[in-house]
Amino acid sequence: MARRRKGPEKAMEDVQREEMQRKCPECGSTEIEHDHGEYYCGKCGMVLE
Ligand SMILES: [Zn+2]
Repeated sequence: MARRRKGPEKAMEDVQREEMQRKCPECGSTEIEHDHGEYYCGKCGMVLE
């Protein structure tokens, strides 16, 4: 009962980290919108790659 470290929790961490990488380089906002295969800042409208 010692090995409970690998599971869905780790996957959730990875997803959260991926979200955090999407940050607007212009205004620093993390409110990134996704539309038509593009990501853009929900605050200033800058399109991310
Ligand atoms: Zn922005």
